[in-house]
Amino acid sequence: MFYSKMFIPTLREVPADAVIASHRLMFRAGLLRKLANGLFAYLPLGLRAFRKVEKIIREEMNNAGALEIKPTVVIPAELWKESGRWESMGESMLRAKNRLNNDFVISPTAEEACTAIVRDELSSYRQLPLTLYQINTKFRDEIRPRYGVMRGREFIMKDAYSWHTDEKSLDDTYQIMGRAYRRIFQRCGLSVIPVKADSGAMGGSGSEEFMVESDVGDNTLILCKACDYAANVEKASCKADFTLTSIEAAKNVASNTPSIEKIDTPNVKTIDELCSFLKTDSKCFIKTLIYRAINVELDLSDAPGCAKLGRKKPSNDAPAVYSEAFFAVAIRGDLDVNEIKLASILKASEAELASDTDVSRYTGAPVGFAGPVGLKSIPLIIDNSVTAMSDAVTGALEKDVHYKHAAYGRDFTAWMIEDVRTVKAGDKCPVCGGELYTKMGNELGHIFKLGNKYTLSMNVTYLDENGKSQIPTMGCYGIGLDRTLASVIEEHHDDAGIIWPLSVAPFHVTIVPIKYDGIVKEKADILAEELSKKGIEVLLDDRNERPGVKFNDADLTGIPWRIVLGDKGLSQTPAQVEIKRRGEKESVFIALETAAAELSLKILNELETYK
Ligand code: ATP
Ligand code: MG
Repeated sequence: MFYSKMFIPTLREVPADAVIASHRLMFRAGLLRKLANGLFAYLPLGLRAFRKVEKIIREEMNNAGALEIKPTVVIPAELWKESGRWESMGESMLRAKNRLNNDFVISPTAEEACTAIVRDELSSYRQLPLTLYQINTKFRDEIRPRYGVMRGREFIMKDAYSWHTDEKSLDDTYQIMGRAYRRIFQRCGLSVIPVKADSGAMGGSGSEEFMVESDVGDNTLILCKACDYAANVEKASCKADFTLTSIEAAKNVASNTPSIEKIDTPNVKTIDELCSFLKTDSKCFIKTLIYRAINVELDLSDAPGCAKLGRKKPSNDAPAVYSEAFFAVAIRGDLDVNEIKLASILKASEAELASDTDVSRYTGAPVGFAGPVGLKSIPLIIDNSVTAMSDAVTGALEKDVHYKHAAYGRDFTAWMIEDVRTVKAGDKCPVCGGELYTKMGNELGHIFKLGNKYTLSMNVTYLDENGKSQIPTMGCYGIGLDRTLASVIEEHHDDAGIIWPLSVAPFHVTIVPIKYDGIVKEKADILAEELSKKGIEVLLDDRNERPGVKFNDADLTGIPWRIVLGDKGLSQTPAQVEIKRRGEKESVFIALETAAAELSLKILNELETYK
């Protein structure tokens, strides 16, 4: 390919909003242009690299036994109404109407569409397991698209869905996908950190996220210094500092604590104010927060204050839920409640801090005086940390009053004892007790055991060996292609530009004639031809530009091998060309005669290592 025939608009200036390397370099190297916020066009060079990522993903999916399909991106709203997500998806989902006023969804994901396809064809257990995938456009109206294609509005996702007769079969496919994902990222030259996205350290392995480390990552990863425990902070747990095995044990410990006592704390509301007022540490406080949870699936019939709460049964077969319920959560004063963990314990779609009015309604006091002692009209969930507190300060459910010497087991008990804390660096690993630390990361892919959420709500059945109707269970597996490509650049670049791993480079070799003229032109053309014949992808810089300009562009666009041809080298006996690997300092001269054979062998051998 001749450079002059390509469309590679390289830039010296960096777009003002480009704060991370991949965003800057995708623009500067002429891979990408912006159409609007979160909407990007790949230019030819960018698309070549994108296609390589796509090819790797397709090969690995096919090897994993997944079958490619191509549904539309525009999906009738009826399918989303069946699953219930027409209502629950919120504003990130783009909706459209056609001329007949019918509603449509511009796919943000495709569980509904793929499940509908399978539903219509599935009749017998003999058709299962089945894994389908697509590599297709998704649209999400992200609130804050940023970092270029890392978080765009329109992007390409590989999304796969599998259907199974039983848990074992689902687990087999899930494991195969986990291995395929590891290979995909390795072949793209990416170092990924697979993190368990389950709660509970050793409980099932129903969800795994593939993260890359990034200073601007949206996810906090919790990692262990001593073992390979890795979890998203949204789900991470830690070893309790100290837990009592029974309420009797707690009472025993508390028997040495002086009796609980009210103290006046005028105008003292926050933990910090309390700390300085009582001259003590936040670790000695029990912080109690009131939460409002939405769509709670957990059975609350025996929960304090919930007897009259009605459950609503959605129109489909989905389980009955309480549309709204309130909970008090007590935790040691220096810790934070993890709302995602809380929501998952409650089997709720969301948990958020209650309004001031609701806080007063449940605690009988203004905000700032909630506490577990005497709290009756609301279920109390205490974090494990509180079970170890036998002499604590806490709110007394009265304005300007706190308790001191409050002890778990003696002065209050809980409706539920759970791990709801946000894990921090320095906490202990739930698996081995080692020290935990944090890293920021970006999610490139996610594999997930979905269960029967969609097959149940969308009425998918098959007949088992005994002719009995059954509902299949499902898995889903996604990778963002654009984000993967951008992450490759994040991991492989220097000040001068991109340093493509050979496996995803838009071209393998760039030939840079010092001046594309006379004998140099003749030899450059022959060399390009020879390399191409051997299956090497060559970009020949035939532009009438100064060598410095061409070298800068070669560095910026990051093509792995550069061959420079000039009068000086060619006039030697035997004729020489200069070859250099992008990212390395030294170049070497090799004989023109054998250059194509030598370099193509190197390249083809290296490409083999990515297979
Ligand atoms: P995030 O937490 O980053 O928003 P997500 O959990 O919403 O990701 P999934 O729904 O699991 O992502 O989608 C699968 C993959 O699609 C992600 O791992 C990511 O690579 C990609 N992806 C998701 N949203 C975007 C986006 N706005 N721009 C680019 N890629 C995206
Ligand atoms: Mg998202």
